[in-house]
Amino acid sequence: MMQSNSSAPHGRGGIYTLVQNGTVIHEKPATILRGQGSEISSDKVLKGRGKRKLISQKMSLSLADIAREKENDDWMKSFYNTYHCQNRIYSFEGRLYGNYCKNRHCTLCSSIRKAEIINRYYPVLSEWKEPYFVTLTIKACNSKKLKDVMRSVLLGFQRIVSKYRKRNQRDKGSLRLVGIKSLECNFNPQRKTYNPHLHLIVQNKEVAEVLVAEWLSTSNKGHTSPKAQNIRKVDDLEHDLIETIKYGSKIFTEPDVEKKAKIKNSGEIYARALYNIFNAMKGLRIFDRFGFDLPKTKHKMRFPKVVVDYAEWVFDPTYQDWLNTENELNLTAFHADPALLYLLENKVDKHLE
Ligand SMILES: [Zn+2]
Repeated sequence: MMQSNSSAPHGRGGIYTLVQNGTVIHEKPATILRGQGSEISSDKVLKGRGKRKLISQKMSLSLADIAREKENDDWMKSFYNTYHCQNRIYSFEGRLYGNYCKNRHCTLCSSIRKAEIINRYYPVLSEWKEPYFVTLTIKACNSKKLKDVMRSVLLGFQRIVSKYRKRNQRDKGSLRLVGIKSLECNFNPQRKTYNPHLHLIVQNKEVAEVLVAEWLSTSNKGHTSPKAQNIRKVDDLEHDLIETIKYGSKIFTEPDVEKKAKIKNSGEIYARALYNIFNAMKGLRIFDRFGFDLPKTKHKMRFPKVVVDYAEWVFDPTYQDWLNTENELNLTAFHADPALLYLLENKVDKHLE
């Protein structure tokens, strides 16, 4: 006779391992792991996860406060999802598994997303003989105009790409625009303005120069200045690829937080400005490629695994770490730098926008 799940000791929706005579041999329920998980390759990787969790939690609460004040329930829910992202994780055969919130503003999820992009794009971009890094900018704007300006930046760029694509379809010898692009936005707290801009890595110098020339000639008069556009040769592809896919907003990214924390007396995190940036970016495609396709990867079937000999870890805000549910050992043993803690505790400005 089968023992029912409801009478099992740890009813958390897991399934239970039964032997043939129907008695439970493991106290711990089996669990289902989905996806590929992420490798626990080093202590540094674990500590990085601890640090991102800290930043993500602190910032989510600040952003949720602003969403509450603006009575935007969708954003509030979204920030709380991020607050809880990967609160429960499982380790199994050297990999970590958890549920991801998949939000753009989540530092845990965006670091995984960034790593995926790097792994997919690096092999292709490294074949380009002389790649160039390009920055295309437009006149800064206030928070109210931000979404419209972002849209027009993406649309303006798209028009340039389409023009050359059509030309190339008629004349195969004409220049093809090939590259990747990412929309980013910084906030200037002195002027209280936002500057949406594009970072690109393109195939060669000619593409870089054509893009800048087209950008200047097609944008509205007075909205772009030649001095504010930039091209340079890519010397360190990995560095520039990371630079390009910073994922939207500089203020939130971890290396910047770290950098700011180290500079004495500097640094505020402008939560309201961040909120405005995420809000403006909602629904926009901020990273994309143009003029080339990625090689087809064999679609990996990801079967969920049912496992028993896993360890389960639950995040404990008091310890700022995940604790093992059986023996209370901590997962990362991450200790935040006092400067980072100070920045997150005391230097988050929720007013300026
Ligand atoms: Zn997340």
